[in-house]
Amino acid sequence: MLRTSLRSLAKPASRVSLRYYSSYPLSTTVTLPNGKSYEQPTGLFINNEFVPSKQHKTFEVINPATEEEICHVYEARKEDVDDAVDAAEKAFKGSWSTADPAIRGKALWNLAELLEAHKDTLAAIESLDNGKALQLAHGDVALVINYIRSCAGWADKLTGQYIDTGDTHHTYTKREPIGVCGQIIPWNFPLLMWSWKVGPALAAGNTVVLKTAESTPLSALYASQLVKEAGIPAGVVNIVSGFGKITGDAIASHPKIKKLAFTGSTATGRHIMKVAADSNLKKVTLELGGKSANIVFDDADVKTAISALVAGIFYNSGEVCSAGSRVFVQEGIYEEILKEFKAAAETLKVGDPFDLSTFQGAQTSQMQLNKILGYVDIAHQEGGRLITGGERLGNKGFFVKPTIFADVTPDMRAYKEEIFGPFAVITPFKTADEVIELANDSEYGLAAGVHTKSIDTATYVSNKLEAGSVWINTYNDFHQMVPFGGYKQSGIGREMGAQALDNYTQWKAVRIGLQKPT
Ligand code: ADP
Repeated sequence: MLRTSLRSLAKPASRVSLRYYSSYPLSTTVTLPNGKSYEQPTGLFINNEFVPSKQHKTFEVINPATEEEICHVYEARKEDVDDAVDAAEKAFKGSWSTADPAIRGKALWNLAELLEAHKDTLAAIESLDNGKALQLAHGDVALVINYIRSCAGWADKLTGQYIDTGDTHHTYTKREPIGVCGQIIPWNFPLLMWSWKVGPALAAGNTVVLKTAESTPLSALYASQLVKEAGIPAGVVNIVSGFGKITGDAIASHPKIKKLAFTGSTATGRHIMKVAADSNLKKVTLELGGKSANIVFDDADVKTAISALVAGIFYNSGEVCSAGSRVFVQEGIYEEILKEFKAAAETLKVGDPFDLSTFQGAQTSQMQLNKILGYVDIAHQEGGRLITGGERLGNKGFFVKPTIFADVTPDMRAYKEEIFGPFAVITPFKTADEVIELANDSEYGLAAGVHTKSIDTATYVSNKLEAGSVWINTYNDFHQMVPFGGYKQSGIGREMGAQALDNYTQWKAVRIGLQKPT
């Protein structure tokens, strides 16, 4: 995600307009760019009901492709977060956390079925709200459905252990849920991040209060209706729309929240970890920023490597924490890769997200657009060689041309700092050991890519890379059973796979003293 030091590049978020409504509707009809309409909930989702916030304050949600207003949603303040936490605590103390786990599995399965039934609307909402290409939003929703289904399967498989400590004791362990979980998610994959948070928390028997990002609150509110319809009891899932410093802080500092899961920038992650510690030492998991290395060796299959470079940095308009934003190319193939990568970038369709042939939609906000263009200036000043792009596309909507700078060196800011846009920097290298050193010379460690036909090179390099995910001859290639998360300052904990359940359970050891019967 973003780095605080770069905020100076961005104009203030002028897009956000606050209003006080005595009675803004709790749902509103939204007409999509494809002419279809749907009902968009706008309230806070607390106790399985949509409610206005106590102060009746709303904020504007805009379409990044047109800069026009979609609707307003209610903004949660501290008192609303308190209500949501109370509802979640009551639900946790009810049967949700203690009943047969198969009941939770069934409810999550129902939810997956409902998400599938509503998948076209969900993809359209995601594209409208975030600006991402509709064809990619369909991919996000497919991952969401697979993941919630996977979590349904985990619900009744969290087993403990019998431990043989001799015949004086009967000793066993069991996994228990933690309680009310606070969850704060970003704007680049709004529904996918919702699923990565809600799915494992519920499977393990927790209840949640989740805050969406202020620029993308719509899909989680729509999905909340499905949560209720799936038979998930009131209070188990609570969704509060709002801003980081107000709603987010109320969650991070809440004394009744026992665990905090956050995805966002490293700077914000560092801050909320302190807040979590100072309040009640919540358990914290973080999925943070990255500046991932995508490495092409001389012997790589050029076509496969180019498609991985494109997926690495232009997928989701580059708004991906694991983006392969630092491209390293071995010197024997450097000029060929530059030529092919430029050609591929220039043939990508950028523009109207609802055009199904569009690959790259709009950036999600004016702030992001400004930040990316600011880095173009910086890269020019620092002596980078512009290969393609480097400018805004059109003057309405937050579109940027896919951008590549070559001959970038490790001292340059565009090389070191997370840009979070369709902006690749390319650096040549000679040997495997040299590129390993370059790749690891970063405060981040989220992901990496290695492109080679040699199993020796692939294994040697992937073993030495300091990254939570290494993709060989592929990139940004996710699966619900494969854990994802960061080394170093890219995070704490893993999402998806069996590891995600570790974030939402705690081990209890039970030791029963035994007497010999008389
Ligand atoms: P970005 O700068 O890209 O918005 P952030 O890390 O700031 O990335 O935002 C990710 C999420 O963190 C969003 O939901 C945002 O509202 C929330 N957030 C931002 N600042 C804070 C904060 N001080 N406390 C809690 N949550 C925050």
